[in-house]
Amino acid sequence: MVVLEEVKKHYGRLKLYIDGEWVESESTDVHPVMNPAKDEVIAEVPFATKEEVERAIEAAKEAFEKWRELPMPSRIQYLFKLKNVLEEHAEEISRITTQNHGKIIDESRGETRRLIENVEAACAVAYSLSKGEHMDQIAAGIDETLIREPLGVFGIIGPFNFPALVPFWFMPYAIVLGCTVVIKPSEITPVPMHWTMKVMEKVGLPPGVVNVVHGSKDVAETLITHPDVKGVTFVGSTRVGRHVYKLAAEHGKRAIVQAGAKNFIVVMPDANLEKAIPTLMSSFFGNTGQRCLSGANLVAVGDIYEPLKKKFVEAASRLKLGYGLDESVNMGPVVTKRAKERIIGYIEKGIEEGAKLILDGRNVKVEEYPNGYFLGPSVFDDVTPDMTIAKEEIFGPVACILRAENLDEAIEMINKSNYGNEACIFTSSGKWAREFRRRVQAGNIGINIGIAAPMAFFPFAGMKDSFFGVLHGQIDCVDFFTDKKVVVTRWW
Ligand code: NAD
Repeated sequence: MVVLEEVKKHYGRLKLYIDGEWVESESTDVHPVMNPAKDEVIAEVPFATKEEVERAIEAAKEAFEKWRELPMPSRIQYLFKLKNVLEEHAEEISRITTQNHGKIIDESRGETRRLIENVEAACAVAYSLSKGEHMDQIAAGIDETLIREPLGVFGIIGPFNFPALVPFWFMPYAIVLGCTVVIKPSEITPVPMHWTMKVMEKVGLPPGVVNVVHGSKDVAETLITHPDVKGVTFVGSTRVGRHVYKLAAEHGKRAIVQAGAKNFIVVMPDANLEKAIPTLMSSFFGNTGQRCLSGANLVAVGDIYEPLKKKFVEAASRLKLGYGLDESVNMGPVVTKRAKERIIGYIEKGIEEGAKLILDGRNVKVEEYPNGYFLGPSVFDDVTPDMTIAKEEIFGPVACILRAENLDEAIEMINKSNYGNEACIFTSSGKWAREFRRRVQAGNIGINIGIAAPMAFFPFAGMKDSFFGVLHGQIDCVDFFTDKKVVVTRWW
């Protein structure tokens, strides 16, 4: 077994990054940060005091005045540097992500790659946007020009499951356009963003352009409600997301809220199962089922049901569990002890409501890491759409197999769900695939793809209870961070 070395065993008590300085928090509200594979403390995270969060906002506000005046090509130069330092430190950031979150190293590497892509996309979009839009002679002797102006300070609130990536769905676009930010990573996985900020220091951004504060609800709410913050981006659960959206609206703030999911993966009778199974494994059990794009409900249409069930369960039983830094491992632990208990609670609920547990991942043992928060893949058969396990987001390695007579029935099931983050279809028929993509109410559609994760150059979409707002993360958010001004000109 090859276990890659951890970057550090313990990262100490995390500091806040305010106005270009690492600040020791005065907070007495300090929590342990865990390595979930080992049940070992790897850092302590202080929940910043209100004054500290306000200081970070103040620093961002002051920095904004100068930063917005810097010519766009100069801001882009900072982002080019940022791309280079991130490339240099990509493996380190990935390993820390695995250490704090538990996902396997290849998944962390993919996350880091996407994070860098967002920096690249922000450079590209900044160049094209800074040209503005102009129309000559809209009336005799009159021209009209659209100008985008940066708005000011933004709060960025992240989830635990993509701890380094999610802030990069927003931050590079915000800063290249002239805004400044205060980032609040998840309190469960704060180390990857903490380390990324350390790496970012090499870029030499002016103090206050990017700030990082730690904490939970109180810190997030200070960011959302503070009069000097123009808007917030939030990625997390639907329960909290709905609250964030309301609070932001009450305070007249812009908000992008990307929330929870319950994704359906439909397998048609003509699907190529040999090719589909590996991607289905990654969809349902990659990131230990803790992705907003994870497969949750596997819908077998017609007579594919028996062969699909057999092959799916066989492949799931072969997945190797362990510490994600071990390159031979297919699935890491779930993120916390509490998450493990919650997922087990759902499995018990499924049994209680009459679903048949045909693969039970509750009592797996990983010899080298007996204290890790491991759960093997669990598969339920005979699931009906009205069961709790088919409706609620479990956010763990649990697959529910449902049956549908035909495509219409499968689409109806999907469209009845409260969520609308992703829906995928496996088929050899272009006609079915087209029908599916047109009729399903979900933001991200996979066709013979089990995780329909959009590249940085596309919006990270979402519908229904999976999304609140108008603009999405990644390239879509350029309009979020800017306001539009139209200049109508006539010269005599
Ligand atoms: P969560 O909602 O528990 O926490 C998200 C963030 O909100 C954290 O930073 C947390 O500190 C903060 N928070 C907690 N209470 C708050 C409050 N009252 N007000 C303001 N902020 C508060 O989510 P999580 O468990 O960290 O992340 C998993 C969830 O995120 C899943 O539901 C998953 O589907 C979702 N997710 C969605 C997307 C997407 O793009 N749609 C992407 C990744 C994750």
